Amino acid sequence: MAINENEVHAFHWLVDMLESVEVGLVVLDLDYRVQVWNGFMENHSGISASRIRDKVLFDAVPDLPKHWLSRKIESVALLNTRTFTSWEQRPYLFRFRNTRPITGTEEFMFQNLTISPLSGSDGDVQKICLMIYDVTDVATGRIALQKANEQLERLSMTDRLTGMLNRGTWENLIDAEFERYRRYGQDTSIVMFDIDHFKKVNDTYGHLAGDEVIKHTAKVTLGSLRQSDQAGRYGGEEFGIILPETDTDGAKTICERIRANIETSIVKTSVADIQYTVSIGISTLTDGPENYMQWLQQADEALYSAKEGGRNRVVAHGQASR
Ligand code: GH3
Ligand code: MG
Ligand code: MG
Repeated sequence: MAINENEVHAFHWLVDMLESVEVGLVVLDLDYRVQVWNGFMENHSGISASRIRDKVLFDAVPDLPKHWLSRKIESVALLNTRTFTSWEQRPYLFRFRNTRPITGTEEFMFQNLTISPLSGSDGDVQKICLMIYDVTDVATGRIALQKANEQLERLSMTDRLTGMLNRGTWENLIDAEFERYRRYGQDTSIVMFDIDHFKKVNDTYGHLAGDEVIKHTAKVTLGSLRQSDQAGRYGGEEFGIILPETDTDGAKTICERIRANIETSIVKTSVADIQYTVSIGISTLTDGPENYMQWLQQADEALYSAKEGGRNRVVAHGQASR
C-alpha cells in the first residue's frame, strides 16, 4: 500500500499529539509487550519509552494488579469491545504520585481507565490500547464532599456538648427496640437518669461549670456501657440509656455502677472541684406498654420515685425505692 507525503505528515502530527496529550497511552501486543508508552506515562512513571519498549508490561511495572488487568485485557481481545473502569471501582491502575498542587491531600493519582481493542485491516484484534485519565481533582472533590456529608450526618444525630446521641435519634432507637421486643420478646431495659440538685450547681458555680458536670456525666456513662448499649442526652441534665438483652437485675447492676462512679468522682473545673450525684429510673419492658412512649413513661416514673426516695439511688419500675 502506497503512502503519500501528506499522509506521512498527518501521521507525524498525530504521533506528536499522542505524545503530549494529558492522557496516559499504552499500547500492548497480545503478549503484553509494550509498543507505545507516551509522554504522560514517561513523566509519571519515570520509565522512558525506549527502556520499556518490547518489555512485558508486568515485568517492567511489577506492582500492577496482574490478575485483574490480564483478565480485563483478555476479555477485551476476545469480545473485541472496549471496557471502562472508573476510579470509584478501582482508585488507580498505575501507582503514580499525585502531582496536583491544589489537591495535595491525596497521595496518589486517581485514574479512570479505558481498555480498547485495536484491530488490523482484517478486523482481528492485534493490539490493546490502555488510556489512563488523571481524575484526581474530581475524586478528591467527591471524597471531600462525602466526608463532609458523613460528618454532617453524625452531627445531626449527636448532641454537641456531650457527643452522645441526641434526643430524637435516641427515641428512634427506643422505638426500634420496642418493635424488636414485640417480635422476639427478648429482655430489654431502658434507663432514665437526672442529675440531683443541678440548679444548685449552676447557681453556685455558674453555667459553664454546670456544662462541665454534664460532660463528665456523659463520659462516665459511656465508659460504663457495652458496645450494644445506646446512651443519649434526653434533655438539659437528663440522660437515657437503652440496654438490649438486659433484664432488671442486669440493668440495676449497670446503673448502680454508674451511680457509684459519679458519686465518688470529682469534677475539676476552673471554679471549684464539684461532687454531685444522680438519680436513676429503670423500666424493663413487659407486655404492658402499648408503645415506646409508655415504656419511656415508666422509666420516668421510676426516676421520679428515686428522687422522692431521697435521690442518689436506682429504682426499677414496679419496685419500691430502697
Ligand atoms: P432534681 O434533683 O430534682 O433533679 O433538681 P434539679 O435542680 O436538678 O432540677 P431539674 O432537674 O429540674 O433542673 C434542671 C436544671 O438544669 C435547670 C436548667 O437551668 C439546667 N440546665 C438544663 N440544661 C442545661 C445545660 O445545658 N447546661 C447547664 N449548665 N444547665 C442546664
Ligand atoms: Mg431535670
Ligand atoms: Mg436534676
